[in-house]
Amino acid sequence: MRYAIVDSERTEAQPGMRGICQCCGGQTIAKCGEHVVWHWAHKRKEDCDPWWETETEWHRTWKDRFPFDWQEVVHVDPKSGEKHIADVKTPSGLVIEMQNSPIHPKEMRSREEFYGNMVWVVNGDRKGAHGYSQNSDKFHFIDGLSSHPICHDPLSLQVEWFGRGKLLHNWSRASAIVYLDFGDGILWRLDSFEIDKTFVYEVPISASSNSSRQRELFSDNVVVGKEKKKKDIGVVTPIQVNDFVECSKIGAPIPCGFGLDDQSAVKSKLDFDTAGSQDSAGT
Ligand SMILES: [Zn+2]
Repeated sequence: MRYAIVDSERTEAQPGMRGICQCCGGQTIAKCGEHVVWHWAHKRKEDCDPWWETETEWHRTWKDRFPFDWQEVVHVDPKSGEKHIADVKTPSGLVIEMQNSPIHPKEMRSREEFYGNMVWVVNGDRKGAHGYSQNSDKFHFIDGLSSHPICHDPLSLQVEWFGRGKLLHNWSRASAIVYLDFGDGILWRLDSFEIDKTFVYEVPISASSNSSRQRELFSDNVVVGKEKKKKDIGVVTPIQVNDFVECSKIGAPIPCGFGLDDQSAVKSKLDFDTAGSQDSAGT
């Protein structure tokens, strides 16, 4: 945890400090090693928040985007007395949970039910101890994005998932909105994801053709056939991290992506054909 209670104040860990957990009231010890994010740990393995995950630089960077008082807010169910620490809770009551590691679908559901008004921000580019990516999810995501937007305003794109990782599969089960963070200043809202979606392609298959349309499309000696393929396909909407943060700060609905005049940030990172036609891969 980032904060514990010291002399009645929420305080960050400093070497040698002791404090009290603001969630369970147990004793905490400051952990300020060279290779860890400075944090508070329970003195004994207390029965505290089972949903809490080890904090990383990624969590801290995200929390730092919000005011001090909104970070690590203890949330109590008035009926059951169940307590959990929300990563960020805005004055409008929106909980933003930052998730670095994969979670079990059951826990995902429990957390969504407990907080109700919440969104997920998911680290799509987890780093190991030496700062290297732990998997190739980011590469597969960027590589699978279609260069022809499905919609231009707001900008939304199809993404074909052919990576071995299950990032999109796992997070498509969430009922709260999921924003994927690949560390480039843009969040990708996961709007939908379909596993084994069947596509039928027109492909040239053999010599000879009677159709003038086919001759026009290909050449006189090629016939068009149909081929079925199955793909894992998602639809994502990019949102600038700054917009996401500013909108959640003022309690406004989180914006639904880039508009026509606002695509430069995405375009600068990816080579989009914004003048192109609608994506026809799904037909
Ligand atoms: Zn505790």
